[in-house]
Amino acid sequence: MTTLPATVFEKIIAGQLPADIVYKDDRVTAFRDIHPRAPTHILIVPNKVIATTDDIADGDEALIGHLVTVARDLARQEGIAKNGYRLIINCREHGGQEVYHLHIHLLGGRPLGPMVTDSPAGA
Ligand code: AMP
Repeated sequence: MTTLPATVFEKIIAGQLPADIVYKDDRVTAFRDIHPRAPTHILIVPNKVIATTDDIADGDEALIGHLVTVARDLARQEGIAKNGYRLIINCREHGGQEVYHLHIHLLGGRPLGPMVTDSPAGA
């Protein structure tokens, strides 16, 4: 069995790498993205390693729900709930995932534009 190297998010959760942590409990950690794409850009991650959405087990349903309710609460806390915001989960290469530790991006604080950029090749 091979052990994959710890991702940066694992190190943040373990307190081995500094981050601007805005929320933490026994299941979830949330911190500000190091390269924010909007006035509010927070990453909400499970404390246990789940690499991608494709690796979510049926037994993780409650945990995934908790990630979303934490995102909802943080959006209210950031003052962006009234105008709205976007939650994004990227999965693997075509989804543009860079860090293989499941995370929800909470983005808001300005109009975010189209959901995806149109490609000349079409949909
Ligand atoms: P994704 O492309 O969905 O995997 O997003 C990964 C995100 O993690 C990117 O928006 C990065 O800017 C962000 N990121 C990478 N390293 C760090 C870090 N050390 N602290 C905070 N955010 C990070």
